[in-house]
Amino acid sequence: MEYFGTKVGPGLGIGKVLIVENVSLEKIPEKLINSTTDEKKKLKDVINNVVSDYDKIISEVQETDIKDLCQFYKMLLLSPSLVAELEETIEKYQVNAAGAIKKVLNNKETELSQLDNAYLRERSKDIQEVRNKLLRKLIGVKELDLSLLSENTILVSKEINPTLLLSGHLKYVKGIISEIGGKTSHVGILSTSLGIPSIFGIENISEILEDNEIVFVDGDRGVVITDMTNEDIKKYEVKIAREQEIMSELKEIKDIKAVTKDNHRYHVCINTGDLTELNKVNEVGADGIGLFRTEFLFLNKITPPSEEYLFNVYRSFAENNKNKVMIIRTLDIGGDKKCPYIDIPEEANPFLGYRAIRYCLDNKDFFKVSLRAMLRASNYGKIQIMYPMISNIEEVIKANEILDEAKDELANSQIPFDRNIKVGVMIEIPSAALMADTILEKVDFLSIGTNDLTQYTLAVDRGNQRVSKIYNYFNPGVLKLIKMTIDASKKYSNKQVGMCGEMASDPLGIILLVGMGLDEFSVNISRALKVKKLITLLSAEDCQKITEKVMKMTNEQDIEIELDNYAKKVFGKYY
Ligand code: PEP
Ligand code: MG
Repeated sequence: MEYFGTKVGPGLGIGKVLIVENVSLEKIPEKLINSTTDEKKKLKDVINNVVSDYDKIISEVQETDIKDLCQFYKMLLLSPSLVAELEETIEKYQVNAAGAIKKVLNNKETELSQLDNAYLRERSKDIQEVRNKLLRKLIGVKELDLSLLSENTILVSKEINPTLLLSGHLKYVKGIISEIGGKTSHVGILSTSLGIPSIFGIENISEILEDNEIVFVDGDRGVVITDMTNEDIKKYEVKIAREQEIMSELKEIKDIKAVTKDNHRYHVCINTGDLTELNKVNEVGADGIGLFRTEFLFLNKITPPSEEYLFNVYRSFAENNKNKVMIIRTLDIGGDKKCPYIDIPEEANPFLGYRAIRYCLDNKDFFKVSLRAMLRASNYGKIQIMYPMISNIEEVIKANEILDEAKDELANSQIPFDRNIKVGVMIEIPSAALMADTILEKVDFLSIGTNDLTQYTLAVDRGNQRVSKIYNYFNPGVLKLIKMTIDASKKYSNKQVGMCGEMASDPLGIILLVGMGLDEFSVNISRALKVKKLITLLSAEDCQKITEKVMKMTNEQDIEIELDNYAKKVFGKYY
């Protein structure tokens, strides 16, 4: 059988299905119904149960790393001060065992995650792990511990929880299949950057597939293949091996520059929000970070991160990568990304609502904390600031005024920063694309966010499967807005235009974008090498001709067929 879904993470994977059940740990009731004595007993029991789980892992696994980690978790759980604090919390706040676990461990996690010391900061993830394990045990959820996988596995779920992917231990995870989520959902972006072939949006797939059956995930075509014969399995294994060969070949030439056959040079940067990826920019020979999604520093916390914490994150990249740009996007919260401490009431249309720059402009002091952190880091390297979700010129002017205030504050306190720091705007709302020339009078660069630009131009929710067929950046209307934005920047010799939406890593998109004269392609880390290679196989002049032809076409299907034919010719085995 073949099941088609949305292509999310590229690549091929084969393995045994593991169905992951979804439970929202945040929604577990905290109200005290039994006596506090009962809850304290429950607490002790659950701690003992989790400790014996860790003991079991320690006795079963070979790897010393895993044994050490489990010992560490045990030590945390058995610390007398932790148990005392949990018991006190039950009494003081009159909550049940789950309520105490959440309160105490969330606080500890936040404290650690904001420290300067990298080692201690890492430990905040351990607190989260222990917290979740206790809560899952309390409500009797089937445990999923990826560190225990020992054979190639395909995770299948209604909805994949991003923390599962952040937990590491992904060696045996060869694919992800999920019912919910689109290509540009945040878990989608994460699985892509981790390089895991992923397909989302297949209805009921977690009920159709069964644990342990072998399936093949083709993330490039968006198809899951089941009921395979032994020959099929062999055939797909050979295919995977060939793909891996290409990737290792690309790794060897990681330092090649993205220069076309007729000598046009493009910048290839990465999009990330994951701190572990900051050190990997050089592994793919990228020119820098074209989009740093700061919201990942704000989500999953119970209080906002401090200026000091943000500054240290940005400074550490700037210091270690003196010649590489880091474009930091100011907070893009709201829509599908919510923070407990940012009070955005429920809205009928959150994607059209109070989010991103709209929230920041109304909450000046909050906004300035982030801006000061970015400015301070600019003293150590090539930091640039970018505003998301701009819909009119007034927002740009107001954001720049607040930025000027932040600069004055630093100057008055004699704190150094780059006085010529570059500021840019994301073009992701049609009105901004139409006004790109005016916006460029106020800023130094633009970056086209096609994930949202497509959503807002076509009035199609980027995460809604039912309308996902309409969501297509090759729609001629979307292409016109992209071209208009690029053309606007060409009126200035010193203002660059990049793209940080997913279109920038689509082989067919690359042909058009080279043809239109985009300066910078910012893509997920797992795609950067391939994007560079594809650019080297093109001629800018030929791409311009194709672009001219495509811009006269009236529907996306014809456009894709035209580009697909050309891609087959020029990209060969890399397509
Ligand atoms: C975009 O909208 O294209 C973009 C890059 O931003 P995000 O996916 O984070 O909304
Ligand atoms: Mg966006």
